[in-house]
Amino acid sequence: MRWFVRPSLLIAPVVGALTVAGVPAVADPPGKPSREESKNVILIIGDGMGYNSVDVGSLYEHGRSMYQSQEDNPHLASDGGRSRATQVYQRFPTQVGVETGYVFSQPYAAIDAWASPRHATRDNPVERLNVTDSAAAATAMSTGVRTRGGYLGWDRDEQPLHDMVDLASEHGMATGVVTDARFWADTAAGFAVHTEDDDEHGVIEQLLFHEDLDVVMGGGHPAHNNDGTAKESPYHRYVPEDVWAALNGGPAVEGLPEWTLVTDRGDFRALGSQGAARGNRVKEMPTKVIGLPQSDGALFHDRPGDTEIPFAEPMAPNIARLDEMALAALNVLDQQSDQGFFTMIEAATIDGAAHNDQLGRQIEDQVALNDTVEAAVKWVRQNSSWEETTIIVTADHETGNLWGSGTWETNEFQPITGAKGEVPAAEYADYTDVDPDDPEQAPHYHTHQLVPLYAQGPLADDLAAVATGYDEVHGDYLRNIDIATVIRSAIATD
Ligand SMILES: [Zn+2]
Repeated sequence: MRWFVRPSLLIAPVVGALTVAGVPAVADPPGKPSREESKNVILIIGDGMGYNSVDVGSLYEHGRSMYQSQEDNPHLASDGGRSRATQVYQRFPTQVGVETGYVFSQPYAAIDAWASPRHATRDNPVERLNVTDSAAAATAMSTGVRTRGGYLGWDRDEQPLHDMVDLASEHGMATGVVTDARFWADTAAGFAVHTEDDDEHGVIEQLLFHEDLDVVMGGGHPAHNNDGTAKESPYHRYVPEDVWAALNGGPAVEGLPEWTLVTDRGDFRALGSQGAARGNRVKEMPTKVIGLPQSDGALFHDRPGDTEIPFAEPMAPNIARLDEMALAALNVLDQQSDQGFFTMIEAATIDGAAHNDQLGRQIEDQVALNDTVEAAVKWVRQNSSWEETTIIVTADHETGNLWGSGTWETNEFQPITGAKGEVPAAEYADYTDVDPDDPEQAPHYHTHQLVPLYAQGPLADDLAAVATGYDEVHGDYLRNIDIATVIRSAIATD
């Protein structure tokens, strides 16, 4: 059982926090968080973030990786070096895998995922139908129900499901969805709307007119281009003209909540720093915030310039970053309700870049996710505590079958290697989305690999306890629907 040695070393001082199947848990030390005290849930999702996405980010940032050692993964063709935790979430007490299925998926255990690098991709005939999209995966994590591809908060028969925002707001909690994609992207929408993702205008309308959501943030600013510059005139294909006017102080639109519109990067920062800077709650915080950073598109994926070398193209100075949006959201939500809050925060371009063979952009967004988790951890320490707030960091699925260079050609798992500040030697070993008639089509698709989940706070033990599956490399794993079940049962017992 050597696979369990590594995570337990990382959390050596926290006796009993790691639940290992078959090993009785040690009695809780005094003061250990329990789910009775659970108040806030911060769910941070890296769209398309497999274990190897975490590692390309860590190699670029620190020159170290966590999942490339042959000692930990005997399937690797050669030794990629020692496993080293570098991210704050790699020190969280619960670290398990997640099976990312949807309604047509076979259980992960039914596939020999380590038989070859293509076994958990759609190259494997058994896997053809097994690979989820982001809509169904978000719905699974939000509602606890597996549904069809493209369905957001709908069951397989198009009936609305009770989503996480519905449940949390019924229990008096504040709720928010934050993404660095456009604000109506699938992962955020799966927590708050009921329709299918082809119905883009329906998704936008449900979010803008949502009765319960307190915070909605993401790209899709009608008056800015993807590089942050102002458009000659606003583009109203997505955010309708009358709604935009109302958000900017014009005539009211019937049914539209009284949103405070935030678009200026300085305003995001001010909202994000107030609570933390003063160590107490700020009185004049807005109550319902729609945050649109000054970009029409996804903040990383759609910006112009080099996509190979991370940050070769400088970030536009006026576009708010994901960690700044996240801190603003946490402060707004925290002062909203004594019953706590639920928020989903998504780094979306890990997926979008992987589809499009843009490792540099994927690393940029992986770094953004890492920064966001650090900001959220700091926020918990300064404004809350690990007794009342849980942070969960996970993914909806892996994208692109990212492995070390040479994996596709040799058909063996090659480790990803690299040095600090350099682009790691990695490649996308999935070509199941290649369309010979459309060279513009993104070549890489999602896989059915396990993805990581890291948790700290009162729900961390519960998440470890439902990880009843076992993978020979990644150890214990749970199903995406179990994430919903754990969060929902904690909310419902409040
Ligand atoms: Zn995708």
